[in-house]
Amino acid sequence: MSYGNMEEVRKEEVEDNTDIIMEGALIARDRVGVQDFVLLDSHTSEAAFLNNLRKRYQENLIYTYIGTLLVSVNPYKELDIYTVTQMQLYRGVNFFELPPHLYAIADNAYRVMCSEYNNHFILISGESGAGKTEASKKILQYYAVTCPTTEQLQVVRDRLLLSNPVLEAFGNAKTLRNDNSSRFGKYMDIQFDFKGRCAKVFSINDKNDWKIVRKAFSIIDFTEKDLEHLFGIVASVLHLGNIQFEEDSNGHAIIRNGTQIKWISKLLGVHLSILQEALTHRKIEARSEEVLSPLNVDLAFYARDAVAKAIYGRTFTWLVNKINGSLANKDSTRKTVIGLLDIYGFEVLDTNSFEQFCINYCNEKLQQLLIEMTLKAEQEEYEMEGIEWEPIPYFNNKIICDLVEQKHKGIISILDEECLRPGEATDLSFLEKLEEKVGDHAHFVTRKLADQKTRKSIDWVDFRLLHYAGEVTYCAVGFLEKNNDLLYRNLKEVLCNSKNGIVRECFLLSELDSRRRPETVATQFKNSLMSLIEILMSKEPSYVRCIKPNENKEPGKFDDCLIRHQVKYLGLMEHLRVRRAGFAYRRKYEHFLQRYKSLCPATWPHWHGPAAEGVERLIKHIGYKPEEYKLGRTKIFIRFPKTLFATEDAFEI
Ligand code: ATP
Ligand code: MG
Repeated sequence: MSYGNMEEVRKEEVEDNTDIIMEGALIARDRVGVQDFVLLDSHTSEAAFLNNLRKRYQENLIYTYIGTLLVSVNPYKELDIYTVTQMQLYRGVNFFELPPHLYAIADNAYRVMCSEYNNHFILISGESGAGKTEASKKILQYYAVTCPTTEQLQVVRDRLLLSNPVLEAFGNAKTLRNDNSSRFGKYMDIQFDFKGRCAKVFSINDKNDWKIVRKAFSIIDFTEKDLEHLFGIVASVLHLGNIQFEEDSNGHAIIRNGTQIKWISKLLGVHLSILQEALTHRKIEARSEEVLSPLNVDLAFYARDAVAKAIYGRTFTWLVNKINGSLANKDSTRKTVIGLLDIYGFEVLDTNSFEQFCINYCNEKLQQLLIEMTLKAEQEEYEMEGIEWEPIPYFNNKIICDLVEQKHKGIISILDEECLRPGEATDLSFLEKLEEKVGDHAHFVTRKLADQKTRKSIDWVDFRLLHYAGEVTYCAVGFLEKNNDLLYRNLKEVLCNSKNGIVRECFLLSELDSRRRPETVATQFKNSLMSLIEILMSKEPSYVRCIKPNENKEPGKFDDCLIRHQVKYLGLMEHLRVRRAGFAYRRKYEHFLQRYKSLCPATWPHWHGPAAEGVERLIKHIGYKPEEYKLGRTKIFIRFPKTLFATEDAFEI
């Protein structure tokens, strides 16, 4: 790979900077801690781990490695480490040569992808407010600035960057845990090709203000008409929230004030009288006849909220599809991708409902993916490759995923079954079923158990799950309704005939003809998670684990107790133990040989024997010591990155 002049400038900068870092490391190691937990002196106790994290945080060093995994602690203040100069510093430099940074992770993913032509993904995880979305934006900016690209891909990438403020404007909300909390998961594929053109520097202002959102819309193929319709929808949803009902003399709901409803009918382009009727009546089919039955006030409020949710939810899906469409790459030449995943983090609020149940289930699945791909896979790999290995125990949260998602026996199945008994099932009967079917499960706490064991009371409408990240009490009220998410048929009819183009696209007439029961919300959620996991499993992973330092969004405050809890449940200590005992680097013999064969006369320019033998000749020739590496069945394993850097340096000369 050649970056031309830029490369030379960067190298000088790197060398200068490395001196400073090395000097700093000698003088101030005690003050700033170590930049890779693997290098912590002899012991790997939790206290030493926290100590190191605290020291670094207090020096504004928010990033620390565990091998190639990056741990990040939210600084809650702007740091001067995301400049274009910093980006260029990290470009093309060996992973451990510079202080830990998101840019190193991003650059490493890019380089592995280039050298091995495989797909990659960066999984950013951590609880709500830990800094996932910020990290994903920074990685995206890094690629936009540093990666060579064709003009066509540049357009796609610019659009990807601009889609962020749009999606955030519609998909984020202020919660108790985070002022800008993601309420949707985002998986982005960043496409690359290998034509290697020198990159245009692209500057991005990520202030999430309205002007940017407006500008972004125009760049991602939105017409004025689209915008008029979109803003009309947002305004109508806000007006819907203000509609009030009162009882008439027959106990039926009527709309209290006519002003709001007039606005809504105008904004959505639907008949006023039909809309009024649809919000206060329900159409029931009786003996092939349709009868309009008036709603009471409670049901009218339910219908109002259901329609607001349906309009907003489907419009958001429409928006995502539209953005995806504008990002689709029409160029058919071979591409590799780096996927970037930023999802809503584990969340515990004062009252936790169906939404938290879904969010936390999703985090449970991602933790499972991480366990499968690191702790489990890494240890299995040593075994498979015939490398001596003392197994390191870890908590596998598969048991909790099963509790939620197993067919017939899992919580989602039980909930779906109850949703099939309209009129009979209630949130309470759902709770009873849970107790009957999963009451004995080690990670489910029923009221009885809670009373006996923890002596903490649990209300009859609650159930409690012991998630990998902690205990969460869910209030079952509303679970059935939210899972069904039923919109009365006559409200759907009104929306299908709307003059607002987006609403009409979101509510298709064909839906009214379909007799098939739509999938429940939880099942749709489960299925889309499954397909996401399948996509991720086929790619090579990098991980960023984000930690929230305190509950008050305060800069500089390192809450030991809160952080210890996250270190525990994120499995960071186990990860460190596996890393310390294991090998930092491993590559298939073929790949290793291909990259370094020029270093040894026996393998250059061609090696005709088995790749493993070639690698053995090669590393002996360049002087690897026996304790520095191990030869497995299909791969070479190198214990310390230092060894590899020496090889890389020799390679560059
Ligand atoms: P959720 O799961 O709720 O979406 P999240 O993990 O995505 O949470 P962010 O929205 O990324 O959390 O971060 C919360 C806030 O923390 C940001 O709005 C920002 O103020 C601050 N923050 C996070 N990372 C950084 C950073 N690297 N530098 C400065 N501030 C940061
Ligand atoms: Mg977020």
